[in-house]
Amino acid sequence: MSDDKINMNHGAGGEVMANLISRTVLDNITKKSVNGGISLDDLDDGASIPLGDYEIVVTTDGHTIDPLFFPGGDIGRISAAGTINDVSVMGAKPLAISNAIIMQEGFPIEDLDTIIKSLNETCEEVDVAVITGDTKVMPQDKLDGIVMVTTGVGIAKKGEVVRDSGLQVGDKIIVTGSLGDHGMSLMSFREGFGFETELKSDVAPMWNIIKKALDIGGVTAMKDPTRGGFANAINEMASKAGVGVVLEQDAIPIKQEVHAVSEMLGIDPFEVANEGKVVMGVKADKAEAVLEAIKSEKYGENAAIIGEVVEGDYVVVNTPIGGERILEAPIADPVPRVC
Ligand code: MG
Repeated sequence: MSDDKINMNHGAGGEVMANLISRTVLDNITKKSVNGGISLDDLDDGASIPLGDYEIVVTTDGHTIDPLFFPGGDIGRISAAGTINDVSVMGAKPLAISNAIIMQEGFPIEDLDTIIKSLNETCEEVDVAVITGDTKVMPQDKLDGIVMVTTGVGIAKKGEVVRDSGLQVGDKIIVTGSLGDHGMSLMSFREGFGFETELKSDVAPMWNIIKKALDIGGVTAMKDPTRGGFANAINEMASKAGVGVVLEQDAIPIKQEVHAVSEMLGIDPFEVANEGKVVMGVKADKAEAVLEAIKSEKYGENAAIIGEVVEGDYVVVNTPIGGERILEAPIADPVPRVC
């Protein structure tokens, strides 16, 4: 692979992408925050602008998913949910999104109609408005289908924004449901197992679940385990906080179908994207209450406490047969164009 041209790994969310961003984006931008808010340098799920008693949380996300329609969703639902979730995991109530659409000449208007209806339904679930957007068309041979770029705006009381770097020793780690559903369903669909498979993407807006957890309190850190999967999210959370994490493999919810596809394709379910899940650190004395609150919400039925934060430098998984393995962040996403 050439070092001076972009390749697929540069967009895969792993170490290769991080190095590229550091070299080309972070080094070239001079002003990266406003009013001392969360900045570009923080590389969190979103950034913030403190204003009076509040912080405005902003995030932006490009969507290049292939195929555009897949079991459990489409590019419209993933654009809305992905953006809403990045705002929500900052502890901010999502208020509105903007959506830019770039289409290939010849794209069916009926498909665009379906995609926008789907985006709208997803926003309705969490009372988010679509307040502005942009539409562009490119010649047929210059673009594949449709690309959507979505920006989200949310609001939190000053000092109540939740970071992905806030884990503290003793915290419990909660996941809001089964891992690997989106990446594995997309992969099995692409491999030709079709819509008949039981496996569906988990793509969904997470604000209602997060609101329940925040109302109980004790949430120290959050992240949505999208590209790079759970393995990437938990490693990023641990390394930003300078802590270790010990996980119990038996406690981590993974669907039987995900295991099956994972074995067939040789892809680790921890390394593929989730589009309707949150990884949280929660104070130990609040963890059970937060878990129960999440379980009572739609999309939270399979939530679980899967481990805890310890002193150390690694994410370790205790296996059912008494062994342990280090869970590392993937170098690149094994499944490209999943979101
Ligand atoms: Mg995120």
